Amino acid sequence: MVAHNFRHAWGELFNPAACVRSAVPAPRLNRRCTTRTANLPPNHDFRYHSHPMPVTTEQVYGQLRKVNDPELHRDLVTLNMIKDVRVDGGTVHVHVELTTPACPLKDQIQNDVSTAVRELGDEVTDVEVEFSAQVRPSPQQQASENNPLPNVKQIVAVGAGKGGVGKSTIAVNLAVGLARSGAAVGLLDGDIYGPSLPTMLGLDQPPMATQDNLFVPFEAHGIKSITIGQLVEREKALIWRGPMAHGAFKQLAVQTDWGALDYLIIDLPPGTGDVPLTMSQLLPLTGAVVVCTPQRVAQDDARRAVRMFEQLNIPVLGVIENMSYFIGDDGKEYDIFGRGGAKVMANDMSLPLLGTIPINIAIRVNSDAGKPSANFDDPALADELNQMVKSVAGQISVRAMSGQTMQPTISIT
Ligand code: ADP
Repeated sequence: MVAHNFRHAWGELFNPAACVRSAVPAPRLNRRCTTRTANLPPNHDFRYHSHPMPVTTEQVYGQLRKVNDPELHRDLVTLNMIKDVRVDGGTVHVHVELTTPACPLKDQIQNDVSTAVRELGDEVTDVEVEFSAQVRPSPQQQASENNPLPNVKQIVAVGAGKGGVGKSTIAVNLAVGLARSGAAVGLLDGDIYGPSLPTMLGLDQPPMATQDNLFVPFEAHGIKSITIGQLVEREKALIWRGPMAHGAFKQLAVQTDWGALDYLIIDLPPGTGDVPLTMSQLLPLTGAVVVCTPQRVAQDDARRAVRMFEQLNIPVLGVIENMSYFIGDDGKEYDIFGRGGAKVMANDMSLPLLGTIPINIAIRVNSDAGKPSANFDDPALADELNQMVKSVAGQISVRAMSGQTMQPTISIT
């Protein structure tokens, strides 16, 4: 029994992994961590069978300083994205905290970290990269003294030059996609003239007011949402004078009990009216996304939307081409509206193209049925939608980390 225990302890002691983990100090053999087994001959010379000394955490950090975030173009250590480094024998564990759970470049970061750590030599036998995510608040959110939504880290508007291009559809799917990746997301139906969220999210109850006169947002499909559509009769014509539109938007935005959010997505009314103006005065926006269909006439309207955001000093994060193409039952792709038109427009305006979403009957059916999550479970749609979500999240991180977020100031001429 004693012999058995001794052998067990001996094996543990000289297991290279256990050299780091074991509470019992490992014997020093020329400062090397050595493998030894119970059935070696008595005259075995350990010097010729020793493993090299494990690398140090300092060495690992040194290598990680050479790994740049592919979008942020600064190294992971400087960006404070390395939360932990542990060396366990030949295995190096690195904990990377991403700036969004919808990170588009996670695989590349994993490869780059692994390659950089392995450059330390044969001492490194394995690199384990663990990911977590923490959305960083935009600098403007932190700096703003009169911020009515201090617990919301990033606020992004979705706009379009005109109606019917799928702006609300994109806003809903963007919000749901971000939430599916693990973020805390709110969706504000800022389209106070023609709210679509009650139908698209399948909402059927009016929102409840809390004691502090705050609305309790709806919780459906993993997101919180608020819409004037559930506060008025469904078919009522919503006619707002400028100050009323201002008041309605403001109440929805700041009198909703959002709690802590990573992202608040705002579905704007189409065109260039009162609501974007109110929004730009009221909220510290990270930026806006412009939705556009590919035809030339749609591009012209989208350009106007881009110019409007620029005039309001709201950075335009990029363009999304909706109804880009149609895939028929025969599997063929039909460029009904002239696929790629929005890309041309984005290039002309030096903006990133953040996604191309096809015309797909399922999108319309799921919207009408209030089941946006079903789009992400549809293999014909999931890739494009997830790509769009990741691209937008990536752009938000770039803006937040490069300190380019600005408090909008009105400069209408
Ligand atoms: P907007 O907000 O720009 O007025 P909506 O998002 O309300 O436009 O979309 C208008 C209609 O087009 C809705 O019925 C919606 O379901 C449908 N739709 C939007 N995008 C697509 C798409 N990619 N494929 C199929 N139908 C779509």
